[in-house]
Amino acid sequence: MFVKDNSLQNKLIRTCSYIDGEWLPAAKKFDVINPYNQISVAKVCEITKDQLDFAIYSSNRSFKNFQSFSKEDRINLLQSWQNLISKNKQQLAKIITLEQGKPLLESEKEISYSLNYFNSYIEELKKKKLSQKIQNGKVYTKPVGVVSAITPWNFPVAMILRKAIASFAAGCSFIVKPSELTPLSALALAELSNLAKFPKGLFNVVVGKNSQKIGKVLTQSDFVAKFTFTGSTSTGKKLLKQCSTGIKKTSMELGGNAPFIVFEDCDIDKAVEETMASKFRNAGQTCISPNRFFIHKKIFNEYIKKLILKINCLELGNGFDLVTTMGPLIEKKAKKKIDSLIKQALKKGAKKVYSYPKKLTGNFYPPTILTDINSEMEIFKTEIFGPVIAIIQFENEDEVIELANSTAHGLCAYAFTESKKIIQKVTTSLEFGMIGINSGSISNAHAPFGGKKQSGYGREGGVWGLDDFLETLYVKEE
Ligand code: ADP
Repeated sequence: MFVKDNSLQNKLIRTCSYIDGEWLPAAKKFDVINPYNQISVAKVCEITKDQLDFAIYSSNRSFKNFQSFSKEDRINLLQSWQNLISKNKQQLAKIITLEQGKPLLESEKEISYSLNYFNSYIEELKKKKLSQKIQNGKVYTKPVGVVSAITPWNFPVAMILRKAIASFAAGCSFIVKPSELTPLSALALAELSNLAKFPKGLFNVVVGKNSQKIGKVLTQSDFVAKFTFTGSTSTGKKLLKQCSTGIKKTSMELGGNAPFIVFEDCDIDKAVEETMASKFRNAGQTCISPNRFFIHKKIFNEYIKKLILKINCLELGNGFDLVTTMGPLIEKKAKKKIDSLIKQALKKGAKKVYSYPKKLTGNFYPPTILTDINSEMEIFKTEIFGPVIAIIQFENEDEVIELANSTAHGLCAYAFTESKKIIQKVTTSLEFGMIGINSGSISNAHAPFGGKKQSGYGREGGVWGLDDFLETLYVKEE
């Protein structure tokens, strides 16, 4: 059964940048493409240079005005936005599915997940001491200033809200450039902030395909105090370089290369269930998706057998079809990249032991299992970002931990075991920012989300997330 969707009937669809409380049209437009059928769903205005400059000016003015808001005022404002997002969940979910392709149920889950960040940050703000006396004066906790952000297409609502809510809780204004592939979700959030009666310029959304031009302004304007990014490590490096000219405060949530280690003493059914949940969510297009599967030799056959039974039950299709459990990849380009990783791995000795049997077209990628992967292969080193399970069998605990750590990335890791000793060992030895023990879904609003090494730094969620948007001022009084 299909959920009917005509984008023009969706009351939250907006097609130009939202700056200083206004929708600003522009002559040049770009298409937003539905990844399911590659049909254009909307034409969105490319922001002009003048509009971008105005957006920065407006964010700065709004930041200054926002300082008159008390903690309670900020909480009330956040709660109005939260209520409107919650009330409009269905409409917003349809926009996510329309431009991103994920199943509608996943879009709804993305919104519920995002709504939890309101509760988390409001709770932390209530507890936060904004000033304290010390021996020689007073220390104030203050918002950092204007925050700019660039966000990706895989969670077009959550990746914005996780940053924006923290900014407003801290007392900052926030300006975001969403991915050019998914601008409609961001603009819908802007419309909801408008309905929540946000002060002008507090939440500016600048949209355009020319991400380099927009990125330069967001990272280099003198008015911007902090830049926060979620995206690939390679783009993150370029943006960090740009931020260095003005010594911006930064937080970077970059790519991962998560190991998923299944020890011989684990509950295999649970490991299989969590493999399905973590690997096929969003068709594998998440930065915390397991990338390298390490399966103990003794349980390998049973794990694979049970896994294939589950994968065969996946329904690939239109996200608006309520039976769909996995949507397409975002672009053809992504398909090509995965094809080439697999080809190269097969050439170097990997074996393809499973490929989803139904015929697929367009941007769909068949769920695939490869075995005999080794650390020399590109697929071991690269974030696959698709529904491919690449397996290495192991026997020795120390060796598997060493292999799991042999990556430039350090976002998250997963381990399945019933042994307290092994849990202790992986907790102390795995070099990642987050570890899921017997769980494939790590992220939640009250926990610190973020990585180490080339997966970046900074945390989103809980007090850690709020603190990333605050700074301290020391005043000495005599
Ligand atoms: P992905 O490969 O997942 O698309 P990217 O890092 O390319 O990840 O994109 C994440 C975000 O960064 C998107 O909003 C994209 O438009 C933006 N982006 C990509 N390249 C640049 C750049 N050179 N300057 C500024 N923003 C960029």
